[in-house]
Amino acid sequence: MPEGDNVHAHAAELGERLIGTALTAVWSRGVDMRGLRGRHVTSTQAIGKNLVLAFDEGTAVRVHLGINGHWRSVARATPAQLGQAQLALVTETTTFLCKAREIEWTRARFANRSRAIARLGPDLLGDTPDLDAIVTRARQPEHAARPIGELLLNQSVAAGLGNVYKCELLFLHGLDPWTRVDAVDDDKLRAIYRDGVRWMRANVGRSRTTTADLSRGELPARGRGRFWVYGRWRRACHRCGESIRQRRQGPGLRPTYWCPRCQPSASGGPSQSASGAASI
Ligand SMILES: [Zn+2]
Repeated sequence: MPEGDNVHAHAAELGERLIGTALTAVWSRGVDMRGLRGRHVTSTQAIGKNLVLAFDEGTAVRVHLGINGHWRSVARATPAQLGQAQLALVTETTTFLCKAREIEWTRARFANRSRAIARLGPDLLGDTPDLDAIVTRARQPEHAARPIGELLLNQSVAAGLGNVYKCELLFLHGLDPWTRVDAVDDDKLRAIYRDGVRWMRANVGRSRTTTADLSRGELPARGRGRFWVYGRWRRACHRCGESIRQRRQGPGLRPTYWCPRCQPSASGGPSQSASGAASI
């Protein structure tokens, strides 16, 4: 499931392999990109979960992988592989195939004004993510009564977090995912996003984990698995032994995992009715 850390790793790898190399062909489903033939990639940049490839003739391609998207490279793509891709960048030696949710081709100097980019909050993997600006965005009135789990996935508040980090950060901060945003104080919000930055930075380019002891560089923590709650429905909490719950949350009905003992509900909210851990 691509989140900010994966996209930054993709940007670094594609940059290493593509910058300065001429494209012998470019194919995209639904967007005519033949004009990029013979062009060079000049930069690759991750912005939240978006990857922007800039080209020497002054345009840029924005890619958002969605939940199930991915990049892969092959020496020469078969028709079947091309048929499954939304974008193919071909060099003399390699074809880079991308399965994505959104692909946009735009003037490079306007890339940062792409509507999809313009609506994003600060990128948690940017050079100096502005945590105060993120808290200010989180305090917009429309978020006050929403669950904290939905807020963390809202890319207009902060860009980069996905469902895995949502579940894990809320466990690490002892918060029920259905806690209302206005019940979480500014310091706590700032701390959650700060930890999001910390974990995503640590995980760029490697197998994602949130259980490691970062101060010791231990990856992942021995005997504990890679995650505290994500993907661990009905298994015992690593910390207290309670059975991990799972319930769908938000507009995307994202499977949300939590430990009812380590993350108690303050309000008796919807998570309390999920003790049967219904998986829809
Ligand atoms: Zn627990």
